[in-house]
Amino acid sequence: MPPTSSPRSSPPTLSIVVPIFNEVECFPKLLERLLVLAGRLEGCELEILFVNDGSTDGTGALLDAAAAMHPAVKVLHFSRNFGHQAALTAGLDHAEGDFVCIIDADLQDPPEIIPDLLGRAREGFDIVYAQRRSRTGESWFKKATAALFYRLLSAVCRVPIPMDTGDFRLVSRRLVLALRSMREPHRFIRGMVPWVGFRSVAFPYDRQERFAGTTKYPLMKMIRFAADAVLSFSNVPLRISTFIGLGMTCLSALGILVMLYLRLFTVYTVPGISAVICLILGVGGVQFIILGMLGEYVGRIFEQGKNRPLYVVAATANLKL
Ligand code: UDP
Ligand code: MG
Repeated sequence: MPPTSSPRSSPPTLSIVVPIFNEVECFPKLLERLLVLAGRLEGCELEILFVNDGSTDGTGALLDAAAAMHPAVKVLHFSRNFGHQAALTAGLDHAEGDFVCIIDADLQDPPEIIPDLLGRAREGFDIVYAQRRSRTGESWFKKATAALFYRLLSAVCRVPIPMDTGDFRLVSRRLVLALRSMREPHRFIRGMVPWVGFRSVAFPYDRQERFAGTTKYPLMKMIRFAADAVLSFSNVPLRISTFIGLGMTCLSALGILVMLYLRLFTVYTVPGISAVICLILGVGGVQFIILGMLGEYVGRIFEQGKNRPLYVVAATANLKL
C-alpha cells in the first residue's frame, strides 16, 4: 500500500524526484546542477529524492555519499530494477513537499527551468508540464516513433494526454495525493496525471542531449511502455476487434449470397477448395488477433489481481519509511 499522508513536520516546499538507473557518468554533474539550483531557490526549502532503481554500476554508492554530505539529499534504494514508472511512483509516494517536480537523471531535462515551473504552479496550476519544443541529440528513429506514438495515443484515449511531454513536470501536493491512491500495476504516469483532472498548463522548453551514457530505454522496453499506455488508457483495441469481427461476418454473408446466386441463377460456380482455404485463413487470422487482444487485457487483470507491491525498497538514506 502507498504510505498515507502522514502529518509532515515542517514540510519542504519543493521535492525534486529523480528516478535513476545506472547513471554513474551523469550523477556528479546532475548533483552539482541541482545543488546550484537549491542555492538559487531562496526561501524555498528543498528535498532531492533519488530513487535508485536497482543500479549495478556504482550509482548507489555515489548516492549514499551525496546523502551523507547533504541533508537535503534523500535516497530510496530498490531491491532490483523495477522500471522507470515504478521508480517515479516510489518518489511520489515518499515526497513530502508542497510541490513535487519529476526530472530525469541524464540531464536531458534542464533543472534550471524548475524555478519557472514552480512560478507557474504558484499561480494556481496543479500540473505544470514541461513540453518539448525541440529535442536535440536524439536519433530520427526515436523522434519519429515518439511523434507517432503521442498522436496515436491521443486518437485512442479519452483522457487528454498532452503532446510531446515526458515525465518532466511539477505538480501540487493534492495531485500527488490523488496519484498515491492509484495503484495499478501497469503504469503510465503521463496519462494518470491528466486523468486526475486538475488545472494544468504547458511550459515549453528545449530538450537537451543526454549528458553521458546511453539510454536506459532500449527498443523492447519502449514497446512495452507504449503498449501499457494504450492498453491501460483505452479500450479502443477491444472495440477494433469487434468491428473487424462484424466486418468479417458481413463479408462472409455477402460471399454466401453471391455463391448462392451464382449457383441458382447462372451456370458459374466458385471453385470450392480455394474459396474455403481463403476463408479459413482469413477467419482464423482474425480470431487469433482478437484472442491476442483479449489476452493482453486478461493478463493485466491477472497482474492487478495479484495485488503485489509496485516496488520493494531495500535501503534508504536520510529518509525514514
Ligand atoms: N530509468 C529508471 N529505470 C529504468 C530505466 C530508466 O529509473 O529501468 C531512469 C533513467 O536513469 C533516467 C530516466 O529513467 O533518469 C529516463 O531514462 P532514459 O533517459 O534512459 O530514457 P530516454 O530519455 O532515453 O527515453
Ligand atoms: Mg533520457
